[in-house]
Amino acid sequence: MPEGDTIYRTARALESAIGGKVVTGFETGLAMLARVNDDAPLVGRVVKKVESRGKWCVIHFSGDLILVTHMLMSGSWHLYRTGERWQMGRSRMRVVIRTAEWEAVGFNIPVAEFHTERSLMRSSEVPKLGADILSGSFKVEAGVARLIAYGHEYPDAEIAVVLLNQRVLAGLGNVYKSEVLFAAEVNPFREMRTITQGEAEVMVDVAQRYMKANVVDGKGDGIVTYSGNRRTTHAMNREERLWVYRRQGQECRRCGAVVMMRKQGVQARSTYWCPECQPWVGTGETAAPVGRVDRLLR
Ligand SMILES: [Zn+2]
Repeated sequence: MPEGDTIYRTARALESAIGGKVVTGFETGLAMLARVNDDAPLVGRVVKKVESRGKWCVIHFSGDLILVTHMLMSGSWHLYRTGERWQMGRSRMRVVIRTAEWEAVGFNIPVAEFHTERSLMRSSEVPKLGADILSGSFKVEAGVARLIAYGHEYPDAEIAVVLLNQRVLAGLGNVYKSEVLFAAEVNPFREMRTITQGEAEVMVDVAQRYMKANVVDGKGDGIVTYSGNRRTTHAMNREERLWVYRRQGQECRRCGAVVMMRKQGVQARSTYWCPECQPWVGTGETAAPVGRVDRLLR
């Protein structure tokens, strides 16, 4: 699943290309969107703003119409100069927004809905402004408060699962989940009841730094095509910068212990951690002994 920083870059690229421009054409392969467009056509409206909210890309049009898309695993937004050949087949096109100079094409987008300001406010799925770690309005203190409040409501939820919950903090994906927990020295399997205010502060602060550090300004290099996946050319550098993600069985870069991996949560997402740097805190079944055994066997 694309991380929030990918969606953020996508939104920014869309904003710089079609923001402030008049829509000259709209096409969609999605019946729900087509029906709305029949009643309230997009052509003639101005693209007021494009923003990311967690994993959602939100496109605001004049006249109180908002297109909300979620890429899940497969979707991506591409930008093409008018008349330029698409890099994906037409059969995968779900949405096209045309302006005088650009075509913004959404391929394989599994979730797309139209909203009004009011219905978007009511939506429980799309994060509210301010919850997104990358939004300008995000405040660390507010993020910490959300995390702590969630912990009070769900004291036995595991911290790594909570960090992926887009209704708590929007934008963090599976890569940064493990990285943030490592940086904060918090064991991923700890229950929310054991998480201190100080630890929550470190996690949210680090999350914001990591996310911002990965938002590269890609303006002014002609054609920008952003897909749901990271650009592969940077993959090598990126891998080298990661502390624990996808490093199971290798030595911890900080202490030399063996990095662990275990599937976690109902979605069975891979969680990576160092059992020495992120010791178990709490009672009951622990994640720590596995690490100790592993180290003894080494
Ligand atoms: Zn370590």
